[in-house]
Amino acid sequence: MPIIFHQPINRRSFLKVSTLGAASIVSGCKHTENRSSSSPTNEFRIALLSDTHIPADRVNGHRGFNPWENLKKIVPSVISTHPEAVILNGDAARLVGLPEDYRELAALIKPIARTSPIYIGLGNHDHRENFHQAFSKELGKRANLTDKHVLIVEHPVVRVIVLDSLDIVNKSPGLLGEPQLKWLAGYLGQNSDRPVVVFVHHTLGVGGGNLIDAAQLFSVLSSCRHVKAIFYGHSHVWENTVRQGLHLINLPAVGYNFKDTQPIGWVSAQFHSSGVNLTLHAIGGNTVLDGSKHELTWNAA
Ligand SMILES: [Zn+2]
Repeated sequence: MPIIFHQPINRRSFLKVSTLGAASIVSGCKHTENRSSSSPTNEFRIALLSDTHIPADRVNGHRGFNPWENLKKIVPSVISTHPEAVILNGDAARLVGLPEDYRELAALIKPIARTSPIYIGLGNHDHRENFHQAFSKELGKRANLTDKHVLIVEHPVVRVIVLDSLDIVNKSPGLLGEPQLKWLAGYLGQNSDRPVVVFVHHTLGVGGGNLIDAAQLFSVLSSCRHVKAIFYGHSHVWENTVRQGLHLINLPAVGYNFKDTQPIGWVSAQFHSSGVNLTLHAIGGNTVLDGSKHELTWNAA
């Protein structure tokens, strides 16, 4: 069985690593990847969802799409791929993260939760406190770190870090903040034995509704050759690009698209020791690319 665990950052471990990373946010990784020769070569199957935008009102939608129905529709499809983990990369709730939004979300994903762990990151349409209250049982111990919800998922072939870019509820820009970036730099410096992929809700451009401290994030990651990819959402666009040697994967939305040219759906991912294979599952919008595959290869460390 693969080792999968939900490990929120607790205050104690944060203080430990933040002290190490405090000198400079970009000083986390000065050495090259130290991959263990005994690293298994098996795979880690993760179902990747983003921007579900689940409303309390089941008929609430946007651009003719019904996010509640969309998620209900994909749940059996996700389960049929037998994922070892599911990641929902932010904007889980419709607009402001109402308790009732999360109640509907919890009910919808319950069939998945019976078969695999679900890790939920936060986006600008989520509400941290309401989320924590709604998922206190499902996700166990909460991060106790400066009001951020950061998750680590361990597997022999890849280490997954789900960051928290929620800044102001229902305001488009996102922010990681210096404490989280310092933690990340310290954590990556101490954990270089296998590839790392990072999830963050916000887009990584400049200004507007992007991640305000995207440049600082890239500064941290650029010195860490074992970081291979950033997965993000927010734009409701399906796209794969490369920047500074990092694969950038923009996940499609489950809830609705902003442009007719974009699909609605989710992505199944098979991580292996040297990359990831991605398959798009488009259920609405532009479905031309449904079933299309991308084989991404990690840059050498
Ligand atoms: Zn969204």
